Parts: sequence; structure tokens; C-alpha cells
Amino acid sequence: MPIKVLDPKVVSQIAAGEVVERPASVVKELVENSLDASSSQISIEVRGGGVSLIRVTDNGVGIPSGEVDLAFSRYTTSKIGNLEDLESIESLGFRGEALPSIAAVAQVDIVSCASGESVGTYLSLDDGVVTNKRSQGRSRGTTITVRNLFRKVPARFKFLKSPTTENSHIANVVSRYALAFPEVKFTLSIDGKVTLRAPGSGRLIDSVTGVYGLEVAHNMIEIGHGDGGWEGGVVPPSVKVTGMVGSPAISRSSRGYLSFFINHRWVSSRLLTWAVEEAYHGLLPQGKHPVAIINISLPPEQVDVNIHPAKSEVKFQNERLVFSAVQKAVRQALIESMSVPKIEAPVIAYGAPAKPRELWQTSARSDNRLTSSRPTPLQTPQVSLPMLRVLGQLLSSYIVAEGPDGLYLIDQHAAHERVLFEKIKDQRARQKIEVQGLLEPITFEVNPQQDEVLKSHYDSLAEFGFSIEPFGDRTYLVRAVPVLLHNKDWVGMVREVLDSLSGGDWAESIAISIACHSAVRAGQTLTDDEMRELIRQLEQAVIPHTCPHGRPTMIHLGSGQLKKEFGRG
Ligand code: ADP
Ligand code: MG
Repeated sequence: MPIKVLDPKVVSQIAAGEVVERPASVVKELVENSLDASSSQISIEVRGGGVSLIRVTDNGVGIPSGEVDLAFSRYTTSKIGNLEDLESIESLGFRGEALPSIAAVAQVDIVSCASGESVGTYLSLDDGVVTNKRSQGRSRGTTITVRNLFRKVPARFKFLKSPTTENSHIANVVSRYALAFPEVKFTLSIDGKVTLRAPGSGRLIDSVTGVYGLEVAHNMIEIGHGDGGWEGGVVPPSVKVTGMVGSPAISRSSRGYLSFFINHRWVSSRLLTWAVEEAYHGLLPQGKHPVAIINISLPPEQVDVNIHPAKSEVKFQNERLVFSAVQKAVRQALIESMSVPKIEAPVIAYGAPAKPRELWQTSARSDNRLTSSRPTPLQTPQVSLPMLRVLGQLLSSYIVAEGPDGLYLIDQHAAHERVLFEKIKDQRARQKIEVQGLLEPITFEVNPQQDEVLKSHYDSLAEFGFSIEPFGDRTYLVRAVPVLLHNKDWVGMVREVLDSLSGGDWAESIAISIACHSAVRAGQTLTDDEMRELIRQLEQAVIPHTCPHGRPTMIHLGSGQLKKEFGRG
């Protein structure tokens, strides 16, 4: 094909792709504009996963009537005038790319009324071209409505995930800004239902409650007090770290609860993640991550925000300085919080009745201790284990056993996970999941992201024995749980599944998570009978050598190897 100049429309659609990756990117850009316009109230309305409709309404400074068209031209901005301004940027936007990019891939209309103007301006655009402009009454502020996103860009459209997934990304974006700007009132409604409300009280703890719920809010510790953990000399006070971190009691299984804001800009940063996780070193179980909201303020010239099209990554002039300020502020707050004897606060979010009494049970088995009857083998074992003789328990975590060919060290948790995983899958296939009804239903709260996922996965959870129903504002009522999880942390298990958002095999993830949460733990002393029973069950497993996560369940030291080790080979 000969070289030719691309049609301007194609150019703008290609360029738009950099800024607008998915519906959540539109929400991000529009919310950032509202924040830059000094709004104290921002409401976001979304329909059809953000494809049918995204509407952001604010009460900010508005756009003067004569400038509304201009706002939709490429590289037009009111935020910087020259390159020097970029050095000390304080606004979230500065490229002048968002509105034209959005207009290139959707139908857009705007109603805006600027300070000092008596009437607002309405403008609509199709394919980035103005189709209508007139005066329209409204109070000060701006409303931008985006419809049919990517409908004319099939290459992008086909990469969109389900409305649930897109909604969850949108809820994530709004949650972060609500945490970054506690002084701004945020409302997010998805398909007509309000899923997030942050009151705009100016107190971070109120935003945390709005976004993560009461349980998390009750376990947050304030950090920094503004001095970045400065002890004089090491970290100059130009870097200030404030925010809140979760006590180790509310660790999470994903890093999705870590939020970093540099001068109010939400960024993702491996460096900062590492700094926080370092601060929690030794305080969290392996594989768990903290909840943290970290605000870093530093002189704008010490950070470059112009290295990423979506402005989601930044570069620090002095990385070590920022790293140590964050790490210290977090560590110090954690240590202080632990040295003060704490009166245990009541768990209010989901523990309404302290100990649920049993209403009924479908099976005679009261729990999943290992002395229960042996499950019938599902299939002929493929990689079968030989018969093993239990010798004892090591470190309350491993079972030492002897086989015809040497010594076996079996990880009790991993092995039990494997056994339960296969049992759960089998019961589900036969629709025979054992269920434990609760005499008093228990309520629990989820965050907006989890809410979106949960809404479309009742059925999958029900297949595994959960009876969950909506109970108003991101709260759910649970009437029954799988019997294996009775008296276990099933709330943690449900949250873990909702957080994993894998989009992959849901049934598999749920089965793995139930198995993991109901299996015996490392550190739990087992009786001889319990160990023998576990080994019997493991011998029957289809794949006994690995746990459902793929980690080994055992180490085998063959007699040949033993002889070699002792020099008799
Ligand atoms: P940028 O934010 O990088 O300046 P945008 O394309 O996002 O570029 O917006 C272009 C301009 O439109 C902004 O500089 C601002 O002047 C104006 N604008 C956009 N949204 C709003 C809003 N909600 N309130 C007031 N002004 C706005
Ligand atoms: Mg902008």
C-alpha cells in the first residue's frame, strides 16, 4: 500500500484509543475534570456497563459559553499555558485530550453553566462534530453525557468485558477518587441503583466507610500526621505522607485495597506498593495484603506526571526519599497502634449474632473434622499414592508417614485442601452440597466493586450452598452456608472470591476457595486418627500430589535416596 495521509477521523480515533481504553477511562477523565473545576459534589450515573450511558454531573466552575466548543478540540486546555506550567502542575488534567478523545468514540452532549453566566450552554456532538448548540438553563456546573461508547469502533468494542466487569472497573475508579478527595461528595449509581456514596465531610474515615464499609473503617489507623514519619535529617519535610492503613486484622488477598495519591492524583506504583508491604513485614500472613490509603504531597516539580497517556504512573525525582517516607510513616503508625493495649471492638459488620445457632443440617455430619466417614472415590485414582503408615506430626504442620518406598512428608493443609476440593466438586456435580442453615441470618457488607461481581454470581454461589440475598445498600443477608465452612471465615472466603475477579472458571475458583478456607491449618495439632483419616482420603484423591492451587502436597524421600544421603549407596 502506498504511503498516504490518514483521514483526520481515523487519526482521532487512533489517538482516542490511548486515553479511552474502556468505560472506566471515560469516568476517570470526566471525574478528573470535575475535580479540576473545584466541584464539591460529583454524581456519576452509569448504564449498560458504561456503554449505553455515562453521565457525570458536577457543581464546579463550569465552562463559559464561548469556550464550550473549544473544549472538544484536541489539545485545548485551560490548565496550562506553556511547558513551564507543566513543571509545577497541580491540576489532574493538562493535555487537553480527554474531551475530544471521548467525542471521537461516542455520542456526547454537555450542558455547562459558568460562574457569572445567567444561562447555560447545551452542545451535542456526533463523531466529534458539533450537531447542535443552544442555550439551556441550569445552575452553575457541568453535566457531560456519553452514549454508545465504542459502538462505531468495533475493534475496541469487541474487547469490552461483561457489563459486570466494566461496572466493577468504574466503581473502582470512583472509589479511589472518593478516597483521594474526602471533601467532595460523590454518588455513583449503576443501572439506577446507588452503589457508592461518600458524604464529602472532609474526613477520610467517612470516605473509607462509604467505599469499604464499616468493618474496614473500624480497623483503620491514621498515619503520618503530616510529617511523613520525619525524624529529622533523614527525610526532609517536603515529602508529607498522610492517610490511613488497615490494622493487620483486616488483611486482604489482593493488592486491590492499596491506593496511592500523589498530590491528590491516583497513581499505581510498584515502588510505593513495595514500601507499604515492607512496612507490614512480619505482620501479615503470607499471600495477604494490607488495606491502605496513602496520600503523598510533595512539591510538584519533584514528580513528573507526564509519562503515561492515562497519567496513571509518575516518576519521582528522588525515589528513595519517597520510598522511605512512606515506609516509615506506615511502620510507625502500625507499631504505635500495637503498643497501645487495645480493647477489642465488637465486630459489627457481619457478626451480628456472635455465634449462629444451628437450625438444621442436611447431613448427620456436624463438621469436617477428619474423623468423618471416608468419601467414596470419585474416579479411579490416576497418579495413585501407595498405602502409607502414619508415624507422627512434625511442627504441627506436616504428617510424617512411611510408604513401601521410603519416607513421606505431607503438608496437612495442602493435602486437606486437595481432599476437600475434590469432594466439593463431586458434591456440586451431583447437586448434593451439604448445607448449614443459620438460625439467625447474618448480614455482611461488600465494597462497590465486590457488589457488582456478587450481583451476577448469586447463582454460582448458591450452587455451592450459599443462600445470599440483597439486603439494601451493598449489604447482603446470608441464611445458609456450605457445611464445610460452618464456624469458619466464610465471609473472608466470599470476599476473596469476589476480589479475584478472574473472569475465568468461577466454579473452580469458588471450590478452591471453599477448600482453602475449610481445610485444617498449619499449626493445628491433629490426633493420630485424624492424620490417618486424612492420609486415607488423600490416597483416594484423583490428583493427590498437588493442592488445588498447584502446590505440592508432599515431599517423598525414597529409600535409595536415604541410603545415598547416609553414605550406604
Ligand atoms: P484537560 O483536562 O487536560 O484540560 P479535557 O479535554 O479533559 O482537557 O478538558 C478540556 C477543557 O474543558 C478543560 O481544560 C476545562 O477548561 C474544560 N472542562 C472540561 N470539563 C469540565 C468541567 N466538568 N468543568 C469545567 N470545565 C471543564
Ligand atoms: Mg481532563
